[in-house]
Amino acid sequence: MKVVHYTDVELEDVNVEGAKGAKIRWLVGKKDGAPNFAMRMFEVEPGGQTPYHQHDWEHVMYSLSGNGAVITERGDIPFSGDDVMYIDPGMMHAFKNTGDTTLKFLCMVPHEKPKAGSKNVNPFADEEANDC
Ligand code: ZN
Repeated sequence: MKVVHYTDVELEDVNVEGAKGAKIRWLVGKKDGAPNFAMRMFEVEPGGQTPYHQHDWEHVMYSLSGNGAVITERGDIPFSGDDVMYIDPGMMHAFKNTGDTTLKFLCMVPHEKPKAGSKNVNPFADEEANDC
């Protein structure tokens, strides 16, 4: 288990090609012993963005503060604090800061691509139990 203030987690540059003014904190990840999911916090400076890319896993996201846009093949979709975003596997996406303050959002990802036809091992994943 882990309890820590987010500012005590290292703020690292996003060094992937196409990233500009984007930083990441791995709030929870493999280094903490989390077997399935990682929670990252992104901080994107005004005018900056994360790389425009796609992959086989989803993004489950919560916007904390600032103004941004999800860049997609279907256009740019604006978001701001307390908005929730979900990015489908295989969908092209980037997150751009369209405001004049730091854009902050949480992004949860699985460590591994789920195996096709795999059984769900999480008893809470049916979304019927909200007490955990
Ligand atoms: Zn992505």
